[in-house]
Amino acid sequence: GPTVAFAGVTKSYGATIAVDAVTLDIAGGSFVALVGASGSGKSTLLKMVNRLIEPSAGRITIAGEDVTTTEPHALRRRIGYVFQNIGLFPHMTVAENIAIGLRLAGTTINGRVAELLALVDLPADVATRLPDALSGGQRQRVGVARALATQPGLMLMDEPFGALDPVTRDQLGVAILALHDALGLTTIMVTHDMAEALLLADRVLVMERGRIVADATPRELLAGE
Ligand code: ADP
Ligand code: ADP
Repeated sequence: GPTVAFAGVTKSYGATIAVDAVTLDIAGGSFVALVGASGSGKSTLLKMVNRLIEPSAGRITIAGEDVTTTEPHALRRRIGYVFQNIGLFPHMTVAENIAIGLRLAGTTINGRVAELLALVDLPADVATRLPDALSGGQRQRVGVARALATQPGLMLMDEPFGALDPVTRDQLGVAILALHDALGLTTIMVTHDMAEALLLADRVLVMERGRIVADATPRELLAGE
């Protein structure tokens, strides 16, 4: 996956500074966790990468290219995005939900959907079901499959395990890590759960009041405690 760089990135809402002059380089292919209390600015920092939020100041580049020079829809085809309560359309089948970002002929789509379901370890027969007929963990896997449909090199995840029970959470964590490795993705994951960050990421950034106050590997963090 591509490198991602933040240079003096700030986002303010009136008097609230959600992200405060963050400068940061994320190496291509790394798995970075953004950890911190609620309101520390994690989601805001993440959503500026795919332009769901525009910075008040500063610059974000992906593989050296300024995100503001890329049209948002084109940008989002290159960036997978997974969030809590994944927002599958309830009246559309799993296959239709996964294929929503694809612009392919119907027959080609069926093959691609089958590949994507296999990638996230879901049985092929869920393709024709509605999201309500799946478990929470299965729905979240469909969300991951949808995020991977356009073969992005960069994956953004905002509390991807938020609503899941501990066992399902662990299983999905293992699956996401395997996909990260197999596809060579650059992954940035927001979580309030340090244990999850230590388990999955190879670099942990701790945010507090819009700033990055710690930047270390899980090994370093564990040794320091
Ligand atoms: P986190 O993801 O760490 O919980 P957020 O990035 O959601 O934090 O929020 C950071 C700060 O910005 C918080 O103080 C939050 O209240 C504020 N904030 C976020 N979005 C908005 C918004 N749309 N309008 C006003 N304030 C916002
Ligand atoms: P809001 O901020 O209004 O709650 P969301 O950020 O949840 O909106 O996004 C709304 C919908 O847009 C999502 O359900 C998702 O399907 C789609 N979407 C948002 N961001 C992306 C993205 N980066 N790539 C693909 N689809 C996206």
